[in-house]
Amino acid sequence: MKIHEYQAKEIYRKYNIPTSKEQIVSSLDEAKSAIKDLTYPIVVKAQVLVGGRGKAGGVKIARDINELESHVKSILGMNIKGLIVKKVLLAEAIKIDAEYYVGITIDRERQSPVLIASASGGMDIEQVAQKSPEKILTTTISPLIGIKSYQVRNVGYQLFTDTSLVNNFISITSNLTRIFFDLDCSLVEVNPLALYSVNNEKKLMAVDAKIVLDDNALFKHPDMATLRDIESEEPSEVQAKKADLSYVKLDGNVGCVVNGAGLAMATMDLIKRYGGNPANFLDIGGSSSPEKMREAMRILTADKNVKAVLVNIFGGITRCDDVAQGLLWAMKEENITLPIVARLVGTNQDKAKALLVNSPITFAETMTDGVKKVIETLKG
Ligand code: GDP
Ligand code: MN
Repeated sequence: MKIHEYQAKEIYRKYNIPTSKEQIVSSLDEAKSAIKDLTYPIVVKAQVLVGGRGKAGGVKIARDINELESHVKSILGMNIKGLIVKKVLLAEAIKIDAEYYVGITIDRERQSPVLIASASGGMDIEQVAQKSPEKILTTTISPLIGIKSYQVRNVGYQLFTDTSLVNNFISITSNLTRIFFDLDCSLVEVNPLALYSVNNEKKLMAVDAKIVLDDNALFKHPDMATLRDIESEEPSEVQAKKADLSYVKLDGNVGCVVNGAGLAMATMDLIKRYGGNPANFLDIGGSSSPEKMREAMRILTADKNVKAVLVNIFGGITRCDDVAQGLLWAMKEENITLPIVARLVGTNQDKAKALLVNSPITFAETMTDGVKKVIETLKG
């Protein structure tokens, strides 16, 4: 679960990580009264659950009330990567002297959490990671004992020479790591971690904040679960979650209905291999009731990019005839006219085949056959 920058910063403040003075607002009127407590320049920041807001024009600095009004007006309602901005954060802006990166995440190859830090933070961190990986410092964190103070100090001295900044970095990073473990996160990130000066003293501040919580551990953190902003999540994914389907929307045109995550991945791979593009990842799980099938088909076909559907089921506990019946029912109830190819093997496959004989659904004998057939329908 992703949370907004302003929510993440509230958590940072509880953990003594320096952030700017700020207010969250959802209208121009709210903005006008909120700025009474803030001093210019004020940075106006779109609150959407995606990165790269700066590059999309969702982060702008205002030096006076006129600029502030115009930025709030232009950013509220803005569409950033398909998400509509409903709230903006107004934060007292600092004069940034340098932008660093610091984050804690899980590294699957190392099978442990890692601390990632760089002196080349800011909006181009992805390019830095790709083109000059030597500028990224990665430190393995023991999942059992956590990060050791010498490890943080070591990174601190590679980034800063000034001892007070090293100490500042150690404090911030140790606290970020505490957040990571306390809240069972999959990512805690500050980009940029900004270097600035006040009265000739150099300091660090978390100018941006990003926290991703592990959904599987949310039951341990009921207070965090309330931070979920359902309206800001992909609506089809929210609907799928309610129906107990694992669904991720993608941008291709072949809808996929599959049982089991591994088979779903393999199906997507095979579609790609034969020149198609999957519109989604969808795992309907083990027991696939007709209602679940209907919900799956409803979600898939609501995506206007979907031009054909491949149903790929390996029946074990799942009975193929149940799936076939559910599919026919769903097509009728949802008035689905898209071409559908079904490959149903395993338990009761013959019954399933018999059910589909006189239907508009194309039956496929194998997975490859199914993938080829569904791609063929797109060419027609
Ligand atoms: P992101 O693009 O979604 O990661 O949004 P950020 O919060 O990181 O903001 C993008 C960029 O805006 C940062 O890299 C900074 O360069 C700039 N920015 C954000 N806050 C401030 C601020 O308080 N002062 C100044 N000068 N720049 C800021
Ligand atoms: Mn950022």
